[in-house]
Amino acid sequence: MTAAAAARQILLRLTEVMASRLHAQTKLDQVVEIIGECLSSEVCSIYLLREGMLELFATRGLNQSAVHVTRMAIGEGLTGAIAQKVETLNLAEAKAHPDFQYRPETGEDKFHSFAGVPIVYRERAVGVLCVQHVEPRRYEEVEIEALQTTAMVLSELIANAELVDEEEARGLTAEQSGPQTLTGLTLVKGLGAGVAVYHQPRVEITQVMAEDIEAERQRVYRAFDRMREQIDSLASQAEFGVGGEHEEVLETYKMFAYDEGWSRRINEAIDSGLTAEAAIERVQQHTRMRMREIDDPLLADRMHDLEDLANRLLRIVAGQVGTAASQGLRKDAILIARNLGPAELLEYDKRRLKGVILEEGSLTAHVVIVARAMNVPVIGRTKGVRTTIREGDEILLDASAGNAIVRPLPQVADAFQARFAKSREKQAAYASLRDVEPFTRCGTRIQVMMNAGLRDDMSALGLTGADGVGLFRTEFQFLVSATLPQRERQTRLYRDVLDAAGDKPVIFRTVDIGGDKSVPYLASEIAAQDENPAMGWRALRLALEREGLMKIQARALLEAAAGRSLYVMFPMVSEPWEFDAAKQVFDEQLAFLRAQKKLLPEKINFGAMLEVPALAEVLDMLLPRLSFLSIGTNDLTQFLFAADRANPKLAERYDWLSPSILRFLRRVMRSSVGSGVDIGVCGEMGGRRLEALALLGIGYRRLSITPAAVGPIKELVRKVDLAELTAAMNGWLLSPAGSLRDELAAWAAARDIEHD
Ligand code: PEP
Ligand code: MG
Repeated sequence: MTAAAAARQILLRLTEVMASRLHAQTKLDQVVEIIGECLSSEVCSIYLLREGMLELFATRGLNQSAVHVTRMAIGEGLTGAIAQKVETLNLAEAKAHPDFQYRPETGEDKFHSFAGVPIVYRERAVGVLCVQHVEPRRYEEVEIEALQTTAMVLSELIANAELVDEEEARGLTAEQSGPQTLTGLTLVKGLGAGVAVYHQPRVEITQVMAEDIEAERQRVYRAFDRMREQIDSLASQAEFGVGGEHEEVLETYKMFAYDEGWSRRINEAIDSGLTAEAAIERVQQHTRMRMREIDDPLLADRMHDLEDLANRLLRIVAGQVGTAASQGLRKDAILIARNLGPAELLEYDKRRLKGVILEEGSLTAHVVIVARAMNVPVIGRTKGVRTTIREGDEILLDASAGNAIVRPLPQVADAFQARFAKSREKQAAYASLRDVEPFTRCGTRIQVMMNAGLRDDMSALGLTGADGVGLFRTEFQFLVSATLPQRERQTRLYRDVLDAAGDKPVIFRTVDIGGDKSVPYLASEIAAQDENPAMGWRALRLALEREGLMKIQARALLEAAAGRSLYVMFPMVSEPWEFDAAKQVFDEQLAFLRAQKKLLPEKINFGAMLEVPALAEVLDMLLPRLSFLSIGTNDLTQFLFAADRANPKLAERYDWLSPSILRFLRRVMRSSVGSGVDIGVCGEMGGRRLEALALLGIGYRRLSITPAAVGPIKELVRKVDLAELTAAMNGWLLSPAGSLRDELAAWAAARDIEHD
């Protein structure tokens, strides 16, 4: 008999038992008989969770008097270890295993070999199924697979018969794996608490046994086809970010997606009578066990990719294609993802989203900028996420310290709440600076503006007392819509934003899509042309060539600003003619509106972003045409260092306080002296304390930063003496040893300036 046929036979017999009207306990008694017989195993036992302990519920081969008497804690003995780690054990000599514990009442001393699998319900082990043999031998793969299949069937029985209730399964978690702390890189500071929600939710398997094997086979075939198509076009998806590491990931994905062995094993599992979903999961369980046995870190990484892919396949088969956002957040949540695009993050309900844990991520990736704007704490490059965090686990995220406590103990949660309260107090203290103008100690007024991108962000203007919006990222509206936003919708947004700003200026940056800000309706065009999207057809380059896109936006802005001042800024200007071309689009639309006798803006101020280093060399030609210039340090530094801002491997490599960046920025500032052009910085750099100090020290007087940083930066400004700071900066930049971080930190500390 083939392995599949043998497995099918077990499954058929189990089906009969499950379909019968017998009492749940009787069913369990029959299951242990069937398994014991089919695997010619002297012992087969089922342990289920009751009141936090694994209790022997049914056995063949051990003393019947031990049933409902023998109880093991999670983590205790082999059974407890299987439940705790949710993993399979296959041992020729049970006694040799360090976790082995002898229970005399069971009469198990004569048995040598042992194999056990967890019974998993809602991702948690709620029991253990095990077999034992007198003869010391390891069980064969087909036998282990049969056990795994049976465990899946049992979990269905357990769910239907309510042998283990959900509350208990949940209540057990703390003991099951206990509190854990994961560490990562701080991407957006802050504290947040909520339940774990995976961006790509796992599929719950509700039916294990197939009714029609051929139909299941067809479902899997189709799912494989869809998955392969998806993988082939993944390169263009924001989920994977851009550049570097994702190439490797994609290669691995491709390798698995086209791996004949994987699809064959799934097919064999279907042959044995499982549904497509159960077959995928069963094969995955088996692979997990094999990988653990090999214990190689490189393979562990691969396993992570395969898990991702198996999940994708499961979601396709089960028809669950949406992300957690489409299902809506029901509680305060900490979102977990490998990586996210900014648009994907924006789909979540802001009120419920309390934090994000990414396995990748970098400081200036747009998703992080969006999170910062939403005031959602984020850590990135977090290790061990998938093995530690299960959907629904309670999480305390301390993004400022770069860690997340999973399943915290009550006293830890209390301490966290106390810190939360403290941090709110601090926020309140910053809020009290709202009406305080940021003058330095020496009396210079610094412009502290804020960055925004959504209608909702505008409330922060009043709350922080920022001097205006120094960067309104108009593309956010493009990112959140499924299609290109109509002109009327754009006009409405811009008008609302201007209304909310009142007398304060708002600098609208024209669309900057492309790079890591991909939109579905342009994705194919961008991906088809660009191997390197950050340096590709994006921002102004794209806007100038997309007939209509720029015109529509120009008209929307001009109409929205009728009767008031309008500030327009062009992103990614690389040569002066691009600025001229963009301005011309506005001039034409202005002429059109004038001819229509429409009310025009009172004054239009045009500005450019300096993000491409080449522009610095021709500033003398550009400056006379500008009323302001804003330095986008996020892009600028990626181009200066040739280091992709979204590549997690480079996330910590270069410092904004490196002499190369600071000297460059100082040179730009010096070359603008006397031009009358207002120069500022609107990259993330300006919102960080030491970086802001450095910028003040090399001459910058206007910073546009994330709203949460407005209070802290105002506070900092008030403690600075510019002459002293400038002298110090010039001194350090004369012959720097490396990054100026330590020097600036010491300088700040000596002046009672916070600098975490
Ligand atoms: C920048 O590049 O620094 C910038 C402010 O623009 P964005 O982050 O939106 O690319
Ligand atoms: Mg930029």
